[in-house]
Amino acid sequence: MATARSNRRYDDLVKLAENLQRDPQLELRIQENVCVTCFYTERGQIVMNAFHHQPCGLCLTPQIYVNSRTDVLCLKCANEHSLCKHCGADWNLDSTREFDPKEKSSGIGSEPSP
Ligand SMILES: [Zn+2]
Ligand SMILES: [Zn+2]
Repeated sequence: MATARSNRRYDDLVKLAENLQRDPQLELRIQENVCVTCFYTERGQIVMNAFHHQPCGLCLTPQIYVNSRTDVLCLKCANEHSLCKHCGADWNLDSTREFDPKEKSSGIGSEPSP
């Protein structure tokens, strides 16, 4: 029993690793404006259904979410800068990329953070 469960988890993780490397749902992922990591690891995550308010981490436009899966960026900013709307990472996880947000507005805004 425990072995079967462990086997299943093993298979799931191998599958997950494959998905992370191959990015088989690239088109859908880009449509949803999220990075590889968020797309494949946060599917099926348990969410709390309640309204959540959170400003966009870049333009500070207030965002309203119907559950606890809030995003750090609004769709417009995510699109404009090719960033993951959920965590703010580069779409292709290019860590060499320099990101330079327009001048920070007076203290209210903070860097995108989870
Ligand atoms: Zn924004
Ligand atoms: Zn992400």
